[in-house]
Amino acid sequence: MRVCPTNVIQPAVFAAGVEGIWTPVLNFRIGSSGCQLNCIACGHVCPTSAIRRVGLDEKLGRGAHATRGPIRLGTAFVDRGRCLPWAMDTPCIVCQENCPVSPKAITVRDVHAPVMSGKKFRVRRADADTIEFDGDLLTPDRLATGDYFCRRPIGSDIGFRRISGNTSNRLMLTTTPAWATIPEAGESIDILIRLQQPYVDPQHCIGCGTCEHECPVRGRRAIRVTAENETRNPANTFFLPT
Ligand code: SF4
Ligand code: SF4
Repeated sequence: MRVCPTNVIQPAVFAAGVEGIWTPVLNFRIGSSGCQLNCIACGHVCPTSAIRRVGLDEKLGRGAHATRGPIRLGTAFVDRGRCLPWAMDTPCIVCQENCPVSPKAITVRDVHAPVMSGKKFRVRRADADTIEFDGDLLTPDRLATGDYFCRRPIGSDIGFRRISGNTSNRLMLTTTPAWATIPEAGESIDILIRLQQPYVDPQHCIGCGTCEHECPVRGRRAIRVTAENETRNPANTFFLPT
């Protein structure tokens, strides 16, 4: 525990019964990160080899160990009921950005979801890069984060245009792509948010827990590592044997 640079190894209390008190376990929510990709310190100081000594090539599945692949601690699973882009229409790609393996074990898929449904955005006047609406429907600057887009729901201009800023009744748009024709008074406009929803690829995930540590959802994280698919116990697979 003391040699782990990120303090991901923590003492168990009663998780394994009275006999298991102080057994080292991985806790990805405590400490400063997950199990570091290029670290093999714990196996080298363990006096009983309860944590087996491995070399870096074996841990990373390189050289003579390339056919077996990297050592996996488990697999990360996304909890779609808690993940911000999945459940709350809120942009987040923290887990994908922090996944340390190459290629990354987390991919994201783009979704443009309508926001402020129920509000009718009717054009009062427009030019190439601004649209003014009837009524004060917007909170000023709320749509200036770069995550918001607008779209004409009908006609040939069906592509998305990124919103660069807004007042209570006006959208400012980035210059490209341009409208094919300027929106006319009375037309309706959709406002959408771009979400990047994460998926875990179990072929590449090594269960390092960095994603779980970095996920901004407090309490029970929206991405969590379990022991399925771990290298240590080949019987601990995703599926029941058939
Ligand atoms: S870091 Fe957490 S909330 Fe953000 S996309 Fe990943 S799982 Fe979802
Ligand atoms: S647990 Fe898997 S998905 Fe999460 S950071 Fe590590 S390798 Fe990437």
